[in-house]
Amino acid sequence: MKGRLAIWMLCAVLMLSACQNQSADSSTDSEHTTTVDSTDAETSEAIGVYTSDEQFELPGDLIRSNATVVDDSKTQSIITSQESYQIGTYIKISVYADMQAPDKLFDEIFYTIDFYEKMIAKNITTSEVDAINAAAGIEPVAVSDDLWMLIQQGLAYSALSDGKFDITIGPLVDLWGIGTDTAHIPDQTEIDAAVALINYHDIELDEANHSVYLKREGMKLDLGAIAKGYIADAIKQVILNRGYEHAIINLGGNVLTVGTKPNSDYWSVGVRDPNGGQSDIVGILKLRDNAIVSSGIYERFFIEDGVRYHHILNPYTGYPEQNHLASISIVSEKSVDGDGLSTSLFVMGLDEAYAYAETRDDIEVLFITDENKIYFTDGLADVFVPTNTLYEVVGAYKQ
Ligand code: ADP
Ligand code: MG
Repeated sequence: MKGRLAIWMLCAVLMLSACQNQSADSSTDSEHTTTVDSTDAETSEAIGVYTSDEQFELPGDLIRSNATVVDDSKTQSIITSQESYQIGTYIKISVYADMQAPDKLFDEIFYTIDFYEKMIAKNITTSEVDAINAAAGIEPVAVSDDLWMLIQQGLAYSALSDGKFDITIGPLVDLWGIGTDTAHIPDQTEIDAAVALINYHDIELDEANHSVYLKREGMKLDLGAIAKGYIADAIKQVILNRGYEHAIINLGGNVLTVGTKPNSDYWSVGVRDPNGGQSDIVGILKLRDNAIVSSGIYERFFIEDGVRYHHILNPYTGYPEQNHLASISIVSEKSVDGDGLSTSLFVMGLDEAYAYAETRDDIEVLFITDENKIYFTDGLADVFVPTNTLYEVVGAYKQ
């Protein structure tokens, strides 16, 4: 793990200039001229003001960059960016304003990420989720309001996908260990045992006490499929609460935009090429105040005997989901919804997922198949700009 952190730190330095990677805030939108922001001098004076007694306790070993400050003539604003490595992922926050955003804003953001990680991560022994898992089959555990709400959201996705997304997938995730040093193909008997422990119906919730009980010993909650989205939404709230109206949040490819660009209306966010490297994209999405979250076979995986084993698991088969999807991207208002849906729809597969997406007015979905075809729901027709000739852009999917 230490080695990986060192590699990341090296990469982070390079990334400051080069690796805007899969969700790059591209600067290709200069042709777009809509002016959206008339700056109000009175309110801008109050923006980002922190009193001296507001301190955010950050972990001593937090990996973060210094601020990068760019006077951007195109948007006529000062872009202040900072990066960190938290929740196992590369994080970049860029705030657009009349003046440099203070370090304390980023302290507060990094603190917020750390706070939720320590609540949600199942591999942190002091986390609330670990306490629930440790008490499986023994007793209910009272949880914070935040975690209570997140579990409710996780259960909603478990229900809507009929358990293809299941927040009790923990035993299977741990067994495969994909993305860790111990990743391996488990024995079938181990897979069967882990699958038998997965069932979100076996979570008992007590509304009065906000307590959570996993009914069977060995059950484990894993909120990894929605945690980043939830945290991205919390960061957006911090930014808005501090009076900033234009920002872009990138949590390892979960991108959430705050407002519009100060001077040009939409943000250009790259959609990762599932067959390419970190900085390769298939096109850009023009977004305003929206979240984009992708799930794909490229994120965490290992290859054995020519087969790719990736980190999105099918709770019924016990194996990484093998359908003809390479990735799926959701455009939604809230990042937590995009995150929950990207994993859910990935496991559903193209036919079921596309049909489901069409029933929802509030989301748009882009699918990339293993045959390099790109399908998307109607609302993306004017939003997605393809940039990669290796892919065939089909548009609407006809079954
Ligand atoms: P990423 O974390 O790369 O953004 P996802 O949001 O799709 O990708 O979440 C993948 C994570 O979700 C896995 O690492 C695992 O912890 C968890 N997970 C994997 N399969 C499922 C599933 N079928 N239902 C719920 N959670 C899952
Ligand atoms: Mg997800």
